[in-house]
Amino acid sequence: MEGSPQTTVASPAPAGPVIPPGADPRGRLAARGPRAKRGVPEGLWLKCDGCGATIYRKEAEELLNVCPRCGFHWYVSAAQRIEQLLDAGTFEEWDANLAPADPLGFRDKKPYADRIVAEQKRTGLRDAALTGTGMIRARRVACGVTDSSFIMGSMGSVVGERLARLVERATAQTLPLIIVSASGGGARMHEGILSLMQMAKVSAALARYSQAGASSSPCSPIRRWGAWPRASPRSATSASPSRGP
Ligand SMILES: [Zn+2]
Repeated sequence: MEGSPQTTVASPAPAGPVIPPGADPRGRLAARGPRAKRGVPEGLWLKCDGCGATIYRKEAEELLNVCPRCGFHWYVSAAQRIEQLLDAGTFEEWDANLAPADPLGFRDKKPYADRIVAEQKRTGLRDAALTGTGMIRARRVACGVTDSSFIMGSMGSVVGERLARLVERATAQTLPLIIVSASGGGARMHEGILSLMQMAKVSAALARYSQAGASSSPCSPIRRWGAWPRASPRSATSASPSRGP
């Protein structure tokens, strides 16, 4: 994992449009092109899919893409979540070179290899997770976000490897850790047993993160927080100071 050039099934990305590591998430968003039926629709006003009310777009955006009338949640991309969470322009992507391979030669309605290329073009993502580091109120954190729009946000080898490396770097650098699990897609059937191994790998990394002295606790059904007791003199965390690294 950490330190190894790549996973057994992840391979360097194929030639094509490359978004440089550390690019502003807004740039990544801009590179995605149109996304019909997902996210907050373009326009000054929009109609809520939950209650049917006409909502001022800015009002919904100020509520992080939630309807002020009924609480309906519009889709939020991984890049948008990073924009929402981190200080503007501070996100630096980690492991951007990891891209999925097709070790089984899997095929459903179409070959998995073709599906990967189509999903990458449609979403602007290499796979269903974005990981990296950034600042929250000038304090550095490690941050990972999954995206439900890339094959349902399913956890293939790249998602698992990116998250495991994220947690390992957070452990090594004693960084607070934020993982927004916004996908719920389960394991990716296209990669078979290689997908099923990822949960154990990430869980083991999280256990080592916790054993090293950081505390973590779920703060919502889709978020997981970790904090280091002495990550910053200015930090106020709930971690036990007696377990510092
Ligand atoms: Zn509504």
